[in-house]
Amino acid sequence: MQFKNILGFVLILFLSIVIIGCDSERTKPKDIKSISQDTIIDSNFSWTELQQKFELHYRNVQDSVDASFQNQWQNQTLINVDYYSFDGKIHKGQLLCNRSVQEELKAVFKDLYNLKFPIQSVMPISEFDFDDQKSMRANNTSCFDFRVKVMGNGWSKHAQGMALDLNPMQNPYIHPQKTEPFPNQSEMTTGRIRKEEEMGKKVIDIFKKYGWKWGGNWRSSKDYMHFEK
Ligand SMILES: [Zn+2]
Repeated sequence: MQFKNILGFVLILFLSIVIIGCDSERTKPKDIKSISQDTIIDSNFSWTELQQKFELHYRNVQDSVDASFQNQWQNQTLINVDYYSFDGKIHKGQLLCNRSVQEELKAVFKDLYNLKFPIQSVMPISEFDFDDQKSMRANNTSCFDFRVKVMGNGWSKHAQGMALDLNPMQNPYIHPQKTEPFPNQSEMTTGRIRKEEEMGKKVIDIFKKYGWKWGGNWRSSKDYMHFEK
């Protein structure tokens, strides 16, 4: 008899918790706070954290490279960007870019967000061991990368933080002798930047509005992922 009472009490307690729990969930207002809680954080570094990572990395390369790096690094800044990823959810990422273009890049990302153009992730190159290949193969979007041009001589515009690579997997770099990130690029259509596709065309127009040139317009090679100032 006593055992039955305890059992009944436990059952009532359990049901109460379930009912109260469901109710509080149902009545929870869908305010801005709960929407922002759904945001997926892809990158959330402080400037100091990134500075330490980059300085440590470039301190271990040649002195001459380190000096050039320091020259460019002083012009860089960190901006937070929101975007829709391929999972249909809102993500928060970060771009390292030249201070002179930070406002227009913020505006570009706002427009891409309103267009709901899917972007895989936006993370600094330090999260890919400072390796552009790794970043591209992860389909990551980034701006500042202290590196030389893929083909030809000299520093890339990325070394100044004045170029952005967007969804590299869908938007490869195609040169007669080289295709990146992969030689046989898979045909992924969502997130593509092409003139003949409605959303792709809109993306090109957004960058154009802020005076950014698109690598898909180049003649000797096509750099579909690439925009530069
Ligand atoms: Zn590029």
